[in-house]
Order: sequence, then structure tokens, then C-alpha cells
Amino acid sequence: MLYPQRLTQLTKEHTDAVAAILCGVLLFLGWFALHLGFLGWALLLLPAAYVIGGYESAREGLTTLIKEKELDVDLLMIVAALGAAGLGLWRKEYHLIIDGAILILIFAISGALEGYAMQRTERSIRSLMSLTQDTARVLRLGQEEVVPISQLKVGDEIVVKPGELIPTDAVIISGYSTINQAAITGESLPIEKTIGEEVFAGTLNGYGALHLKVHQPPESSLIQRVIRLVEQAQDSAPPSQQFIERFERRYARFIVLAGLLLAILPPFIWGWSWEVTIYRALTFLVVASPCALMASIMPTLLSGIANGARQGILFKNGAQLEMMGKVRAIAFDKTGTLTTGQVQVFKVIPNSGYSSEDVLKSAASVESSSEHPIGNAIVQAASALDWVKAVEVRAIPGQGIVGLYEHKQTIVGNATFVKQHVTVLPDDLQDAACLLEEEGKTVVWVAQESVVLGVIAIADLVRAEATTAIAQLRKLGVQQIVMLTGDNQRTAHNVAQAVGVDRVYAELLPEDKLHIIHRLQQEYHTVAMVGDGINDAPALAQASVGIAMGVAGSDIALETADIVLMADRLEKIAVAMHLGQRAQATVKQNIIIALSFIVLLLIGNFLGSINLPIGVIGHEGSTVMVTLSGLRLLRK
Ligand code: ADP
Ligand code: MG
Repeated sequence: MLYPQRLTQLTKEHTDAVAAILCGVLLFLGWFALHLGFLGWALLLLPAAYVIGGYESAREGLTTLIKEKELDVDLLMIVAALGAAGLGLWRKEYHLIIDGAILILIFAISGALEGYAMQRTERSIRSLMSLTQDTARVLRLGQEEVVPISQLKVGDEIVVKPGELIPTDAVIISGYSTINQAAITGESLPIEKTIGEEVFAGTLNGYGALHLKVHQPPESSLIQRVIRLVEQAQDSAPPSQQFIERFERRYARFIVLAGLLLAILPPFIWGWSWEVTIYRALTFLVVASPCALMASIMPTLLSGIANGARQGILFKNGAQLEMMGKVRAIAFDKTGTLTTGQVQVFKVIPNSGYSSEDVLKSAASVESSSEHPIGNAIVQAASALDWVKAVEVRAIPGQGIVGLYEHKQTIVGNATFVKQHVTVLPDDLQDAACLLEEEGKTVVWVAQESVVLGVIAIADLVRAEATTAIAQLRKLGVQQIVMLTGDNQRTAHNVAQAVGVDRVYAELLPEDKLHIIHRLQQEYHTVAMVGDGINDAPALAQASVGIAMGVAGSDIALETADIVLMADRLEKIAVAMHLGQRAQATVKQNIIIALSFIVLLLIGNFLGSINLPIGVIGHEGSTVMVTLSGLRLLRK
């Protein structure tokens, strides 16, 4: 599914390459003609080489000059080439015209090469999209009918056969299968899905036949949104790039000024001949241009972003990729992040005078409006009981939830929160809660009006990979790993011990989490926060890098976080970090290479030990070198 504008881009790369080749052929013929003494032919062929090879750069350079009143390197190149040609005609030193043509040729070749390099990162991201189907099999009046995806409507029923791609985001209404979600999450291990579960466009159906109901328009499917995000990431220049671009503009003006001075002053100061002076001034224009510097950052970051996208790691922009390489401290949310968040009711202890059913029913009635994992667990546990949804429900993030059930105010939440509403927390229940918390269970209190009905202990499993994931992060140089939770101290410490974090902060409200991130930033500068993106939004926003995980489905996380891990796997954090470190190191290397070349060529030119073609080769060579070096980030 290529968009028209991509197609024009493709043909553009193509014309660039053809222009470069034509320019090369004309240059060769011109050189040959000059050698054989056919001056007339040479003066016909060489200008043609100039026009064909330099047309695109001249057009771009002039557009920038006219529209933005800015000089860019394209224009400098053309001026240098024309200068060489002019000098050649004037002094009847026709080899200078060849020098100028070589400049144009090499500039055209490297332009085509860079275009190709950019296209590779683009293609790499497009490969996400190649996984999407064009058609779907719809059931209409009992008949299967093949229709284009764009004609699918919400409510349509579609059929997916074994081994086929899922055409659009939909919910399974019958059937059972294993689904390979690698296209979205980067995880190639298939997962089992059945009735009621959501499947995503671009994922691969396993052995079962599935009937699906389309529940959202195809254009807002997860993979489409992911592709849009990655495209936006490509378009937004990170601060380092913006800095270099601002620098380039000022620098280009400086080069022109310096070039002019170099073309005028040396005969008076050092007694250079005019010919040598102008030739060196032209070479100066070429070698001093910051092309390589300009190409040091973006190709690298784009390659990194593309690589991440293929592994189910979405960087919202290049800046976040760079930032991820600098992280020195990481804060993890507990519930749903270090733990699986697939929580279950472990035990219900009623207060005297009440039954377990009373406790569960009241709790479920308010929790049925909650998005919190605890709420889900309670509703699930009460599914066989008879209760109705509470009204006027209000969730207080990090504390609990209240609502009206059977005309009574019903409160579910942690001890501190419930204590504000009731007269006493019975001693025997407090003791029981304490024991459960030491085992790592989360205990919530249920009260009605001012009376405690009982407590519910919730069990949550620590993720199996948590310990290894944290060890990997330490190996990558993270100095401080902390856990933040709204849960109580005892439960928190139990989990912390199991996974091996450095510090634990418990009984936090969402805004407390933000303050802790702030404090960590003062100590460690670059701090990442990993959360589920729903109740951790303030902390995610405060962190230098906010990472949301396991969100194949949740919109909020996709919007608020800087980095989104599509798979529900903690190891991906280390992968993202490693990628960030590689990107950072490559950018640094590139800048050093670019600057070294500029300095060396400038010195060589000043001493007269390089000619124009060598200057151009060094200059363009270093530009292509840093671009290709950036492309290494495409590799895993
Ligand atoms: P975490 O920081 O571990 O993700 P939260 O900040 O979401 O936890 O919640 C902190 C505590 O507040 C929970 O451990 C629980 O005791 C209480 N709580 C929050 N929301 C609810 C809810 N919907 N029902 C019951 N208790 C809740
Ligand atoms: Mg949470």
C-alpha cells in the first residue's frame, strides 16, 4: 500500500541516479574530446554534464535562497563549480572545467546515495505496512464476499482462515486460534486467543479459523496508528539536529564571506597568483561546507527508530532515542509493570456480622466502573453473585473508589483512604491484612457508610522476566533502579525483594510519584519512568523518558508516553536502551569524523596540497561515510 507521495519519492531517487550516471558519461566524453584536441566538442559536452548533474541541486539551492532567503550548501557547490569553469575559460585552462564537472558529478552521486540511504530507513518502516492486507472476507447474508479493507464498516463480520493475516482490528466472535503478533509487538511467540478477545491488523492467524466482528474503522487500527506515529517521529527534528541546522545557516554565510576574503586578500598578503587564489577559494567553498555534519544525526536516528519499530519499540521521536541512551536511573511502577497486572482475588475476610458475598457484591458494584486491575479482579470474583452497578461512582487515583450501592455510600480502597470514611478499622482485620501484605498481597478495604464490611486480598504475580530485565539494565550502566507504588509498604517491599530494585517508595499518590522522579532527576539527570500509562500519566510526563508498556490496545499510553513498548515484555526496555546508546555513540563518532575531515581538508587546501577534485572527494566521501555509518543502526 504505497501512498502516491511515496511513489513520487521513489521515482525521484531514480531520476537522481539516472542524472548522476548521464553526468558521468558526458563528463567522460568531454574529457576524452578535450584530450584528443576537439575543443568544440568538449565545450559542448562538459556544460551538458553541468546542467544534467547540477540541475536538481541548483533548483533546490535557488528555492531555498528565494523562499527562505538562506544560503545552503547545494548552492555553494554550484557556485564553486561554475567558478572553476569560469576560471578555466578565462585562463584557457580547460582542465578546470573538468574539475568543476567532477565536483558536480560527485555531488550528484552522493546526493543519489543519500537519497537511497534515507529510502532504506523508510522502507524498513514500510515493511511494517507490507504486512497489512488489502482485502477482507466479509460475511454478507451468509455469503462470503471479498471486499477492499477500506470498504469495511464497524459491525461487519469477517472470516479469517488459518494462516491468513488479520485484515483489520476486530473482536473474535467464534473460533479459537494462536496469533503471531510479531508485526506489532516484535514477539514471534504466538499467543492463544479466543472469543471476546481482540486481534490486530497485520498479525498472523495460526491454525484456527476465526469469525471476527469489526469494532473500529480500519483506518484507526493499531498498526495504522503506529505507522503514523513512526512517520511523525521521522518528521520531527530532535534538538541536536535543530541546533546543527541553525548552525548550518550561520555557517554557510560565514563560508561565503570567508570565501570572498580568500578570493581577494591572499595576493596582497602572501603574493599568491590570482589563479591560485581563486582556485583555492573555490576549493575552500567546497571543503568547508558542513554536509557531513548535517548528515551525522538524522540518518542515524531514523535508522534507530526504524529498527525499534520492527522490534515493537516505538520511539516518538529521535530525541527520545538519544535520551534513552543517557538514562542513569529508572523508576518502575509496581502494579502492571513489575507485576503482571493479571490480578486475582486471593482471599476475602468479612468483618463480623457480614458474609464474604456481602463484601464482594458491594465492592464489585463500584469497581465495575473502574479500569484498575484491582477492580477487574474483584468484578471477576463476584461474577457469579447477584449485584447491580453502583451509581455516582468516583475513582480517586492511587487511593480507591466510591459510589452509591443500594443507596448507601460504598467505599473500596487502601487502608488510609477507607479510614477517612469509617469510625474504626477492626483490630482483627488489621492483623490479618498485615500478614497478607507481608506475603506480597495487596489488601483493599471495603466499607459501607461508616462501617467496614471486610477486606479483600489481591494476588498479583511478579513478572517472570523482571529479575533478568533489571540485571540487564544494570549491565547497560543504569545506576539506580527504583520502584514506585501506591500500594502499602509491606506489599511493596515483598515485590521489591523479589525483583531486586535499589529503592522502594510506597504509599504514593500519583503526584508523589512525580516529585520522586523530579528528585531522581536532580541526582541522576536523565531518568526514565516505566508505567502502564493510565494512572501514571503525571510521572510519565515528568520523566526525561516516559515508557509505557504492553499497550497493544490502550490509546492513552500510545498518546502520553515518549516510548511505547508494544509487547508486554520488560526486556524490551534494555533493548531500547541499547539502541539509544548505539545511536548516541554513532552520532558522536559521525560528528568527529565530519569535523576531522573538514579541518584536514581546510589545512590541505590552504597549503595547496589538494586540488578541487580531491577536495570534493574528501568532502562528499565523508558525507556518504557518516550516512552509511548511520544506517548500521538498521541492523539488530
Ligand atoms: P500502583 O502504584 O502500584 O500502580 P495505584 O497507584 O494504582 O497502584 O494504587 C495504589 C493503591 O490504591 C492500591 O494498592 C489500592 O490499595 C488503592 N486503589 C487504587 N485504585 C483502587 C481501586 N479501583 N479499587 C481499590 N483500591 C484501589
Ligand atoms: Mg499502576
